Amino acid sequence: MSTKPGYDKNKVILLICDGLGDRPSLGGKTPLQAADTPNIDEISKAGINGLMDGISPGIVPGSDTAHLAILGYDPYKYYPGRGVFEALGADMALHKGDVAFRANFATVDEKMRVIDRRAGRKGSKELAEALNGLEIDGVKIFLKNTTEHRCAVVMEGKNENLSKYVSDVDTHEAGDIVKKCEPLKGKEGEGEKKTAKIVNEFVMRSYEILNGHHVNEERRRRGEPPANIILLRGAGSYEEVPSIKARFGFSAACVAGASLYKGVAKYLGMEVIHVEGTTGRADTNLNNKVEAALHALKAHDFVFLHVKATDSMGHDGDFEGKKNMISRIDKELVARIKDADSYIVITADHSTPVSIKRHSSDPVPVVIKGVGVRKDRVNKFDEFSAASGGLGRISGINLMPILSDFMGYYKMYGT
Ligand code: ZN
Ligand code: ZN
Repeated sequence: MSTKPGYDKNKVILLICDGLGDRPSLGGKTPLQAADTPNIDEISKAGINGLMDGISPGIVPGSDTAHLAILGYDPYKYYPGRGVFEALGADMALHKGDVAFRANFATVDEKMRVIDRRAGRKGSKELAEALNGLEIDGVKIFLKNTTEHRCAVVMEGKNENLSKYVSDVDTHEAGDIVKKCEPLKGKEGEGEKKTAKIVNEFVMRSYEILNGHHVNEERRRRGEPPANIILLRGAGSYEEVPSIKARFGFSAACVAGASLYKGVAKYLGMEVIHVEGTTGRADTNLNNKVEAALHALKAHDFVFLHVKATDSMGHDGDFEGKKNMISRIDKELVARIKDADSYIVITADHSTPVSIKRHSSDPVPVVIKGVGVRKDRVNKFDEFSAASGGLGRISGINLMPILSDFMGYYKMYGT
């Protein structure tokens, strides 16, 4: 790294531990406080620390919108809807005007009552093939199975005036009747009506095609519930946005396991590095991830490294699991990147407190280590210590401009 910050170009590794932030619970501590983190604390000691609101104080962030903000894109301006990220993360092609959804295979009875929202962990690929390429009202529909029961769906929008302002078909709970897709309130235009009609027809067609499919016959024979319908949610509308390279001037790469984050990265023009053994769960291969990140740093100026499991543990209310995952990240990941020839940034997209098992608006700790930073007195990386750091309290959208200046890609306002 250059010894003259702001003159020569420097690199950055940004580690985002999803949902890392928490509230004190077991023994009055947060999982981050309770975890064994000598390497992360070393970075805290050498760096400038603070608290960060993924979006802004009091706003509970989704992972998608918080990541947009932290990567420098105002989510109120650039958020295309979740489905777009799922489709991009699944390596599906998207063009302007296309509408994309998240979807899952589910089990319904003949009255369209949902028995299981997550069906068909086996044989899903073949079932997806049976629905891929259907055409309804002249609109082609593509579907790809990602992991287990999960899929991404793309409706080819070219000149079809399709809209993302339609409701979910997914009931979000078993026991309910499959919902009708409808235009969202206040958005009842022709495009919304047309999109909703196609969605409803696609869902009915999926039942007709899947219910008698041989994969499901075999499932019934084994005593398993059939994956006999596809439920859509999270409509998004694709539009091209200026890339990180175009907006900030440096090239960026992403190392992540879960498809949402790969999708966000692709949307912003980052190179998505394929890594074996990343699962987005606690058994994810951190060694392969860190290797990939260090390798990516040779070809790129900015490497975004994502770990999902901390958020999942928060949703599960699993204090020990979250604590242990953080200790693992310290040993297997941070120990390897802490001396990289770059700025090191560690933070989270939002808090996922184990006590409430959901995202919260509590700000997350953030640290930046590297040449020229105003080292503060913080020597432990956690939600409380970081509050007295030199960065103060920033919003996610502030992070990229701060890093750009350290990297030497600053933009001056005025002369
Ligand atoms: Zn998240
Ligand atoms: Zn979450």
